[in-house]
Amino acid sequence: MTLTPTWETTSPGHVDDRAVEPRDLAWSTIPIFDEPVVYLGEAAETPFGPWREDLARHLERWGPRPMAHGRAGLALIDRLEAANLTGRGGAHVPSHLKWRAARADAPGGIVVVNGAEGEPASGKDAALLQLRPHLVLDGAALAAEAIDAREVVVWLHASAHQTRSSVEIAIGERSRIGGEIPMRIELAPDAYVSGESSSVIRALQGGLPLPQFSRDRARPWGDGPAILVHNTETHARVAQLARGAQYPTTSLLTITEASAPLKVSRRIVVEVDADAELAEVLATLRLPAPQAILLGGYSGTWLAWADASGLVMSPQALAARSLSLGAGVVYLLPPDRDGAREAAAILGYLASQSAGQCGPCIFGLPELAQSMSDWARSRRRRKRAERHLDSLEELIPGRGACRHPDGALRMAMSAREAFAR
Ligand code: SF4
Repeated sequence: MTLTPTWETTSPGHVDDRAVEPRDLAWSTIPIFDEPVVYLGEAAETPFGPWREDLARHLERWGPRPMAHGRAGLALIDRLEAANLTGRGGAHVPSHLKWRAARADAPGGIVVVNGAEGEPASGKDAALLQLRPHLVLDGAALAAEAIDAREVVVWLHASAHQTRSSVEIAIGERSRIGGEIPMRIELAPDAYVSGESSSVIRALQGGLPLPQFSRDRARPWGDGPAILVHNTETHARVAQLARGAQYPTTSLLTITEASAPLKVSRRIVVEVDADAELAEVLATLRLPAPQAILLGGYSGTWLAWADASGLVMSPQALAARSLSLGAGVVYLLPPDRDGAREAAAILGYLASQSAGQCGPCIFGLPELAQSMSDWARSRRRRKRAERHLDSLEELIPGRGACRHPDGALRMAMSAREAFAR
């Protein structure tokens, strides 16, 4: 097959029949969103408005997607590795590891678009699936071709009505053109842990949508055909890389404001350059400097603003400072709020969201929330709370079937450090 130097196509459809080839095109600089997406209130759902890309607009902006069958799939996997693409849902497992493991398994697996935004402070899954559904579905279709899967499943929370409607329309548009792998939607309960990737795998294997232990991060589906789960942003990044982007040059962040602990008042989903500093991002959005941030989401890391303002907001830059972008959330704590009490409230929420299967969650998380609350509320009880937190720091890590309690513990310990004064 002869490769032409541009991405213009003679194909009338939405799939380009050429293989994936590394190219140095302006693709790297095409943003996913033209401007920040703002969600007011608790739900990340607003009418689509003029910014939603239907299939025609998607093709006009991005062009047809290449194919990834056979050797082209292998080339795409090499591309993901060269670009150092990690999952963008929280765990940040290198994507190529999962793809290679899935490709080595028997054909007939499932590719999952995990859009069940378990993280209450996040909004990027909703923004992507409501406004750029075809970019996400392109990435999933490429993955399905590369691992020879039988279908794509879009995993959504049952209450995500607007997102569901956008995905239904997008799947309908693609099926009318034809030539695409079957795609369908599966609805998950509205629970924090039902978006955890091991919950998704368990449910699609016929079990309950609850987390399960997995020994191998690159092959979490165990025996049988692969169930390759990626977050929505990861799929969108695959679609960009397959079209010639050299590496993801931007990150998607959700900047979250809360009017009170656990009361989200505004989410701003914003695409930032890989070298953007956080202070610069907030200044661009005209947001005042906070007292502290919770980086990554409710299971993330608290940082005083003095330590956070200069952070470069890319997964790689943060990893170099032993931090994680997690689900891409930056939760802002205003100067007049008590960070330790906020952390205690979030821990109470995380304790309530456990699947009730493992000791560290059933016993450890309520105690963690109580100790944090004691630590926050009373100087008199602080010493005792300190000792209790120390003992929980010994008891909780690595003992749950999933990382839910580990994440809660990390958040608590970082709160203790950030709000020590
Ligand atoms: S650690 Fe907690 S959330 Fe994870 S499986 Fe066990 S009980 Fe469920």
